[in-house]
Amino acid sequence: MKLVAGVDIGNSTTEVAIADFDDNLKFVVSSMVKTTGIKGTTDNVAGVLIALKEACDSIHMSVDKLHTICINEATPVIGDVAMETITETIITESTMIGHNPDTPGGIGVGIGRTVFLDELEYLHSNDDVICIIPKSVDFETAAKKLNEAFKKNIEITGAVIQGDDGVIISNRLDKKIPIVDEVAYIDKVPIGMLAAVEVAAPGKTIKVLSNPYGLATVFKLSPDETKHIIPISRALIGNRSAVVIRTPEGDVKERVIPAGKLILMGTKQKKVGVEEGSSSIMNSLSEVWPLKDVSGEAGTNVGGMIERVRQVMGELTDQNIENIKIQDILAVDTFIPQKVQGGLAGEFALENAVALAAMVKTSKLPMETIAKKLQAETNVQVLIGGVEANMAVLGALTTPGSDKPLVILDIGGGSTDSAYINKNGEVKSIHHAGAGEMVTMLIKSELGLEDYNLAEDIKKNALAKVESLFNIRYEDGSVCFFQQPLDASLFARNVIVKEDEMLPVPTKHSIEKIRVVRREAKKKVFVTNVIRALKDIAPNNDLRSIDFVVLVGGSALDFEIPEMISDELSHYGVVCGSGNIRGTEGPRNAVATGLVISYYNSLRGKEI
Ligand code: ADP
Ligand code: MG
Repeated sequence: MKLVAGVDIGNSTTEVAIADFDDNLKFVVSSMVKTTGIKGTTDNVAGVLIALKEACDSIHMSVDKLHTICINEATPVIGDVAMETITETIITESTMIGHNPDTPGGIGVGIGRTVFLDELEYLHSNDDVICIIPKSVDFETAAKKLNEAFKKNIEITGAVIQGDDGVIISNRLDKKIPIVDEVAYIDKVPIGMLAAVEVAAPGKTIKVLSNPYGLATVFKLSPDETKHIIPISRALIGNRSAVVIRTPEGDVKERVIPAGKLILMGTKQKKVGVEEGSSSIMNSLSEVWPLKDVSGEAGTNVGGMIERVRQVMGELTDQNIENIKIQDILAVDTFIPQKVQGGLAGEFALENAVALAAMVKTSKLPMETIAKKLQAETNVQVLIGGVEANMAVLGALTTPGSDKPLVILDIGGGSTDSAYINKNGEVKSIHHAGAGEMVTMLIKSELGLEDYNLAEDIKKNALAKVESLFNIRYEDGSVCFFQQPLDASLFARNVIVKEDEMLPVPTKHSIEKIRVVRREAKKKVFVTNVIRALKDIAPNNDLRSIDFVVLVGGSALDFEIPEMISDELSHYGVVCGSGNIRGTEGPRNAVATGLVISYYNSLRGKEI
């Protein structure tokens, strides 16, 4: 037996393929572990050793019995992602944005002047009022006072409560009115002002206060004033309840935060403000493409961000910062839920933000150092194999039914790497910033999650609602029944359905909302990048000249990404699907397999 191992060190994953050269290149085993350390550093060796040991263990052999280990000439592509908020919602005076307490009471819309609970007994008029109830009043007293006022025919159309007892108060009232509770800074609510309270039915969202014309109707606004309240209505979309108070000076403003300018250097130089949003950035990028480097205006947020990327990459790869060139960026529009300045109930508004993935190409990753260390640790000769893209093509071509000419898209964690091989076996390749990690980051920030791993789980798995302890309903409407009862803590929760467990999603977001965020994040990153990639490598930059596209890499395992990409490419008459390396590995292991094949061919004097 002459066993040769191919090792692919990726940003996220280290993959191994082992073949027996004495038996006409017969692949015997593969393995996969998480990459240790940043790709291209000697920290990777630990992970490589684990992967090799895992593979060798399953064929009952020790690593030192390998004949040769081939590692990839890892493309020095390191991805990084960052985010800049570009809008800020500020409430001046005391106009209030609604929020999402757990327990609003009643239902409907109430409009009236704000009055304190204690003032109710002195009111005679039949003016409509909204009653303000501080925490110091217990729910029974509050309900009693409201009921007495009802008896005196005072038109109380809604209530705003500081405590969290909206439902308990509501249950004791003779008349149902919309009640919003958990308004922390109730002392800031101005009295005697026109206000509107809206509570939607359970499972529904408010419709009047989240609609600019609804607000205009409630507050009798002029067309000019209506334009100004758009940030309010926008901030209320998706809420179950809301209060808006109109004060003479009060205002809700959406301010654009100058985040600084990106300076794109390519065929020419172009400056573009980050706050102009992703399409403007991407348009500028294509004007100067191919990109040589990017910097950010000094003293601005984006300037700091770009310098951080450069510095980190410089330190990690032990190179001078000047040699670190950013050769691609991907900008994506996103949202970040942020606390509203001046809010009365700790409200959040979805602020606009731009996420940027940057790809850094260093002069060369120190693969020789990794090879030396690996050789010392294993006592096996270590060779640095061919270019990563060529290896990926060789591996992808083992997919049954594939043939040259062909495009492969390696959609991994940090970058989207693509290569085109023509009939004569010539390979053209390109790397783009932005892939799976950026998708996870977008999901994390748009849903306001603390935990990266949770966002990663949301990305990879379908959602379901636990309808009873014996059944769940998946996001697509299908139902699954169980013989044994589920854990009671899952009841009525939204869950992520993993292979062997269900994870509750600890947010108030509806399944539909999470699904939309998840799918949009994938589209924004992958559909954009696939089109960019194909335009760059297709003969004559014409997508229609491509027939076959094979997807490989971790993100090709995704349960919806390949379908999204296929849908998009079908417009151009391109056949696209996930690879199945060696007919057994699915979209994984392309580069590792290619390394082994390439070495085998070289021993027999064949090309690549
Ligand atoms: P690299 O070559 O850069 O090491 P990989 O090819 O291992 O990257 O891909 C890593 C990416 O694939 C990560 O962003 C990870 O979230 C994603 N990924 C892995 N498995 C799945 C899956 N089952 N569904 C969706 N994404 C996945
Ligand atoms: Mg890879």
